Amino acid sequence: MKKLSFMGECMVELRSNEGSDTSLHQSFAGDVYNSAVYLKRCFSDIQVGFVTVVGNDTFSSRMKDNFEVEGLDTSFVFSNENRSAGLYLIDTDASGERSFTYWRSQSAAKTIMSFLKPEALSTLSENDMFMFSGISIAIIPRDERPSFFRFIEALKESGVKIVFDPNYRARLWETPDEASKNFKQALSLCDVALVGVEDIIELFDIESANDALALCESFGVSEIVIKNGPLSVLTVLDGERLEHAIVPVANVVDTTSAGDAFNGVYLGSRLNDVPISRSVEFAAKAAGTVIQHRGAIIPRGIVETALAEQR
Ligand code: ADP
Repeated sequence: MKKLSFMGECMVELRSNEGSDTSLHQSFAGDVYNSAVYLKRCFSDIQVGFVTVVGNDTFSSRMKDNFEVEGLDTSFVFSNENRSAGLYLIDTDASGERSFTYWRSQSAAKTIMSFLKPEALSTLSENDMFMFSGISIAIIPRDERPSFFRFIEALKESGVKIVFDPNYRARLWETPDEASKNFKQALSLCDVALVGVEDIIELFDIESANDALALCESFGVSEIVIKNGPLSVLTVLDGERLEHAIVPVANVVDTTSAGDAFNGVYLGSRLNDVPISRSVEFAAKAAGTVIQHRGAIIPRGIVETALAEQR
């Protein structure tokens, strides 16, 4: 059985119920968590683990139950008795514009490096792939990031394919320079880079998807996927460059987690030895389906059906 682990933070998501100012809908979401969920839903034959820390609050225990409901392996879901789950609220104003408020500065997931001991390394070394994002790095306290990168290096030396998506969120970083320094280190270590153009345009002062591709190539990444919204996807695999057309979705409802769903389905396809063009087709189909529904994690069955039709 193929095995892949995602490391990051899942948070409690609150959003207003349509037409109400006073009632909220609660769910769970987080960039790499979303990818893990879509991967597992679409490729049940792959073992998908989530590496994180939850707290001692009720939301944390429901969150962990939810991981299990989604079929994720929770062997590396640690528990920090002194912390609680991170939380965010999505507000939508009268014109449909969304704004996000976060309560995550002391979240349990930030303490992950106190749990990633040598025993964890030896079990995770049996994985085929290990994925983290710019957000996974950003939430680790600055002085613990070197030990995170040593952990990634050790996984890579054991033959685990390292996957990275920069997912830049300026407010999580001390300075843009600190983000760019860490992203460069991640790009120099990863085997697969999954990059949204919009995410890195400002940080790296680039102008186009081609520039983003060139940036990843300059770090020697062997498999590169550049996501450029509805415009196109560019890929490079072992030096072979391809441009993939995207069928634009007419009825975009909510673009939250488009890139995450893309990543999950892309990695699941690649782990099942699906060629790169077909993997991009599946991933784009999943992302294009997710954005026609509200929320990061849409109801079970919808993406799976869309992919089954594509197959
Ligand atoms: P990220 O969310 O990682 O920044 P993108 O915004 O490029 O990445 O979106 C990820 C993927 O979602 C795209 O590669 C594409 O497949 C799909 N996607 C995004 N917007 C649209 C759209 N309007 N129509 C169809 N597909 C879309």
